[in-house]
Amino acid sequence: MTDTMTPEQRHRCMSHIRSKDTKPELKVRRWLWSHGYRYRLNVKSVPGKPDIVMRPYRTAIFVNGCFWHGHKTELKIENGELKIIGSCCCKIPTTNREFWVEKIRRNQKRDQENYRVLQENGWQVIVIWECQLKPALIDHTMREVELLLNENMLSLYRHHAPIPYSNDEEETPLPMAAESNQT
Ligand SMILES: [Zn+2]
Repeated sequence: MTDTMTPEQRHRCMSHIRSKDTKPELKVRRWLWSHGYRYRLNVKSVPGKPDIVMRPYRTAIFVNGCFWHGHKTELKIENGELKIIGSCCCKIPTTNREFWVEKIRRNQKRDQENYRVLQENGWQVIVIWECQLKPALIDHTMREVELLLNENMLSLYRHHAPIPYSNDEEETPLPMAAESNQT
């Protein structure tokens, strides 16, 4: 089959397939929004175009479908035999297996590359998997995400050196202390 699409067309086509409003992503967005978090979506200026960008936390969130991104799965083809190492999150269709294996492996590789570039640029990366968003699990999952967000926020503060007081300030009597003496 000849490829008649220009790179630009192909890109648009692929990003359409990737689908911006996949259900798992919506679940995450709804949870974050209803808990007071604000975010941006698919920010092009951030490497890897993460699904959700939370700039004040310098955090990029990816909501990954277990199949397309090969959750907990290492795929290998040895002597023409498909080997799946890991969980059953990613069920490979029995027909056309090599095609799917290649595709998923490519996605896994691209994901890792995106995460690496983000981290090198000072971003924290949170990956949320589709299977972690089942009704019984979503709250637990998102509480963990919340903890990570808070950690990321704290580490941002830690990296800003505290501003030392000047000598003048140290000599100024503390008004709070003076007030409390009068009561
Ligand atoms: Zn999974």
